[in-house]
Amino acid sequence: MADFETDQVFTTRENLKEWVDNVARNLGYVVITKRSKTKISGYVSKVILVCDRSGVYRGTNTSGRNTRTKKINCLCELVGIYYKTYDYWTLTVKNGEHNHDPAMYMEGHAFAKRLTKNERRMVED
Ligand SMILES: [Zn+2]
Repeated sequence: MADFETDQVFTTRENLKEWVDNVARNLGYVVITKRSKTKISGYVSKVILVCDRSGVYRGTNTSGRNTRTKKINCLCELVGIYYKTYDYWTLTVKNGEHNHDPAMYMEGHAFAKRLTKNERRMVED
């Protein structure tokens, strides 16, 4: 998640989430909004973004096999902070460590996308 470290500022929360979604998609992770707080002090708002594997698995299977749950207590966390004074959002990596590998199907998805692009080029040629 070091890939999420950026000096970029965002004009809206939607822009910030869009940027995070894009980076996450390229890495093979899914980032979801955990919670957002508006008007913490009147000058600052924040949104907490976590991996979709965050949270605690409450099942009974402790062997780790055949568990279908996506929640494996990944601690990865990003914090978006809005500064009213400056009227922009910044992104901070609070915890960049995933306790799992990226989703493999994402690679397949990217590959499929490339193929489509090549096919389109062939048609144009
Ligand atoms: Zn994760």
